[in-house]
Amino acid sequence: MLNNSVKVMEPSFVRSFKCAGETCPDHCCHSWKVTVNKKSYKELKKSSNIIIRQLANDNMELTRTSVENYAHIKMDDNNNCPFLDENTLCNIHKNCGHQALPHTCQEYPRAFNFFGDQVEASMIMSCPTVTNEVLFNTEAFMFESSSKLITDLNNGKIGGLPEDNLPVWFPTIRDFCFNIMLSEGLSFNERLFIMGMYLKQAEPHLNNPAKLAQMINSYISMSEDNTLQNMYKNLPAIPALKWHIFQHQDNKFVATTGVKLITDEKDNKNYTVSNSDLRFLACREHLLSALRDDKDEKNNKKHSKTDDNNTGEMFDKMLAQANNSLLPEYFDKNPHILVNYILYYLYHHQFLLKEHKTPFQFYRIMLVDYFMLTSYLSGIAVNLGELTDEWLAQLFQSYSRRSQHRINFIEGIEEQLKSAGSESDAAIFSLLK
Ligand code: SF4
Repeated sequence: MLNNSVKVMEPSFVRSFKCAGETCPDHCCHSWKVTVNKKSYKELKKSSNIIIRQLANDNMELTRTSVENYAHIKMDDNNNCPFLDENTLCNIHKNCGHQALPHTCQEYPRAFNFFGDQVEASMIMSCPTVTNEVLFNTEAFMFESSSKLITDLNNGKIGGLPEDNLPVWFPTIRDFCFNIMLSEGLSFNERLFIMGMYLKQAEPHLNNPAKLAQMINSYISMSEDNTLQNMYKNLPAIPALKWHIFQHQDNKFVATTGVKLITDEKDNKNYTVSNSDLRFLACREHLLSALRDDKDEKNNKKHSKTDDNNTGEMFDKMLAQANNSLLPEYFDKNPHILVNYILYYLYHHQFLLKEHKTPFQFYRIMLVDYFMLTSYLSGIAVNLGELTDEWLAQLFQSYSRRSQHRINFIEGIEEQLKSAGSESDAAIFSLLK
């Protein structure tokens, strides 16, 4: 790092990002908590532009939590940022330029993470444009490198793992995971299975790079002679476990929206439901429609808690219907989409090391996310008779937005796996069947 410059790796999905502005379907100036750094707070309050000065005086509340989190913007009654004009353009940006924006607004959706002595540029998938770039760009993970000033990267706010904190196992294991995900001779689920098996078996040897490399060689041999593929083939399917995990994760996802849970319970509190919540609930509604029993529907009979087994069976039937034809029809034409999603997960989340997860714990969380997303996709495909790019993008983006900043959501996944008795390897891998 000479003269505070650093080598930055930029994937194509970052380089090709262009904010959709007022045409964005889930604008980031709606229903976020926008923190304001001290310098921006002071400058906006005494702006020479009278409109900005007035808006700042009326709509910013001091918190003084830190220099970066010195105040926040109070959203209006519709949960929109009060600095937006009638065309949903930002008044600060329009009148005073990009540099006058609070840091949060300058930075979103960009993210920078140290990876040893270099920095990896990324973006947050809660932004619809980023979701489209990550999922649909066939070259999303083609990298270019350049040298940049640290202060130019999100005002010097760089997360991740600098050299001193980068565990010895990290580069080897991540490279292996990337390579497995790009192995075209394997089915997508075989790739995920092999990655998981390796991460599980590597866990006791994380401080032994030679052993990790040796294990990689034996995994390559076991994949060449079909040993791993046969292990995957013989994995049991456990429909009851899938239903258990789905219901509980889904309950967590719709909490604070006030809608009925799958178990028919309803939280009667009043909540402010954001546009993003509505986008997610619209995806989920396809799944609920797909689950409704025709006969019950005709008799206008609602499901109750006692219907749980019945609904579990319908869930299994729905997944089978989607997996037999509807999802393969779509993903055979678009093989890069799910691969890109997992590459993004590996790249962006850095094995959740900041949340103190081990590689296999990280894998389990990733697998549950993948399972939840493909379950909702199955519901969409069965209900509509096909899967479309638009619904897929809406689901992945709104799901990302609901799970962003939710460490308790991650912890929730692990609790669910425990309570479902799914701590054994076979159980977690059965989500792939
Ligand atoms: S969410 Fe993304 S595309 Fe939409 S307005 Fe914000 S930065 Fe632009």
